[in-house]
Amino acid sequence: MAERVEVLLSEEEVNARIRQIGEQISRDYEGKELHLVCILKGASFFTCELAKRITVPVSLDFMSVSSYGASSESSGVVKIVKDLDEPLEGKHVLVVEDIVDTGRTLDYLLSLMRSRGAEDVKLCALLDKPDRRVVDVKADYTGFQIPDEFVVGYGLDYAQRYRNLPYIGVVKFD
Ligand code: 5GP
Repeated sequence: MAERVEVLLSEEEVNARIRQIGEQISRDYEGKELHLVCILKGASFFTCELAKRITVPVSLDFMSVSSYGASSESSGVVKIVKDLDEPLEGKHVLVVEDIVDTGRTLDYLLSLMRSRGAEDVKLCALLDKPDRRVVDVKADYTGFQIPDEFVVGYGLDYAQRYRNLPYIGVVKFD
C-alpha cells in the first residue's frame, strides 16, 4: 500500500498564522514575562517558531507526557515522562501544544499546571479539532480549526515519522 501526504495547510499559511499569534501574544503580555511550556514532542516545532515571534521576555520549559491506553485515542490518564525543570510559582504560563483533539490530555495538564502555583495558565494550540472534543477545553490562542482527520507535519507524527514536514498534511493510503 502506497503512503503519501496531502497538504492541508501549506508552509506559508502555517508560518503566517504563527507570526500573527506571536504578535497577539506579545500585545496581550505587554509588560510581563512569559513562561512557555512546550509539550514534547509534537509541539516542539511550533514552540520554536512561536517563541521567535514573541517580543516580551520569554523563558522556556519542556514536559513530555504519554497517554495510557489505546494509542489512537487518548485516555486522559497521563503519564509524565519528563517533568518540568523550573517551578511555576508566580509565573505567567502559556502551555504550547500541537493539537487539541478530545481535550483529555490538556484537561489533565492544565489542572496540573494550575495546582503548581502559577500566576495564570493559558493554552496555545496550533491545531484544534472541535468535532472530536470530549472534555471542554478551550485554547486561548488557536492556529487553525481543522476537520476530523489525522494530520502530520510541523512536529506531528505518524509512527514517529513526518514530524519534520514544514507543512500540515493528511496521510493517505492508496
Ligand atoms: P487529546 O487528549 O486532546 O485527545 O489528544 C491530544 C494528543 O493526541 C495530541 O497532543 C497529539 O499527540 C495526539 N493527536 C490528536 N490528533 C492527532 C492528529 O491528527 N495527528 C497526530 N499526529 N496526533 C494527534
